[in-house]
Amino acid sequence: MLTRRELVAASAAALAFGPARAAESRRLKLYNPHTGESFDGPWHDGAQPIPSARAELNWLFRDHREGISRTIDPGVFAILWELQQHYVVARGHTPTLNIHSGYRTHATNEALRPEGAALNSYHLRGQAVDVSVQGYGIHILANFAQAVQSGGLGIYWRSDFVHLDTGPKRLWYRR
Ligand SMILES: [Zn+2]
Repeated sequence: MLTRRELVAASAAALAFGPARAAESRRLKLYNPHTGESFDGPWHDGAQPIPSARAELNWLFRDHREGISRTIDPGVFAILWELQQHYVVARGHTPTLNIHSGYRTHATNEALRPEGAALNSYHLRGQAVDVSVQGYGIHILANFAQAVQSGGLGIYWRSDFVHLDTGPKRLWYRR
């Protein structure tokens, strides 16, 4: 049985252990198939997003058609990290996420309207991402995306990607 002194020491150790665990950095492994650029490293130090990583990610998520970037909602990176963690837990390794679309200018969004881009897309606000996962299909991706969904989720079966955003919770399917 623990003495009171040991119990106090154990609680202190637990307290010390808690924040130490929370401070573990969070890595993202991303690839932009349009530009050939990638990001592989910590984006969050466990307490907050890392400013230099966010700047790099904002550029990776730019409208590549126009070469224009904007600040991406860090909630988008948080969702992608959670999504990636599902693969880490289930498959034991960190997969690369393909970033098909991040920020879109109005001009690019208009050009993509025939392909199904929404008029007031969250891509225009830097609050959305279209993502697929290298080496995995749409079925497992759709499952994991539903598990991490907090805002909008669009599942594009034929194109093999999902749309995730930080807007209100919605769900839609496209063939
Ligand atoms: Zn989208």
